[in-house]
Amino acid sequence: MTLSAEELKLLSTKAIAAKAAAYFPRCLPPSSSGPYSNFRVGACVLTEQQEFISGANVENASYPVGTCAERVALGTAVFAGHKQFKAIAVATDSKHPASPCGMCRQL
Ligand SMILES: [Zn+2]
Repeated sequence: MTLSAEELKLLSTKAIAAKAAAYFPRCLPPSSSGPYSNFRVGACVLTEQQEFISGANVENASYPVGTCAERVALGTAVFAGHKQFKAIAVATDSKHPASPCGMCRQL
């Protein structure tokens, strides 16, 4: 399955915009040992019905309770009745590509 250039552009734009909704109380100063990632992630899925559904990471002081952007977007889409997807885009603030975690890959 291929995406059109327009679908790819919209998917990318919406995933980047979704980062603004990321929830992680910032640790000041940033601490690598704290429960929060200080890492914004946005995601957008394109459904077979041509709907774009976005999500962002939602973190919690209890680290395992937090949810990745990909799972927020997919869960929101499934809750809205979508079961078939064409593509997902994930955006971070990193200069380097970031790979989804194992749980998101499984989902
Ligand atoms: Zn994940």
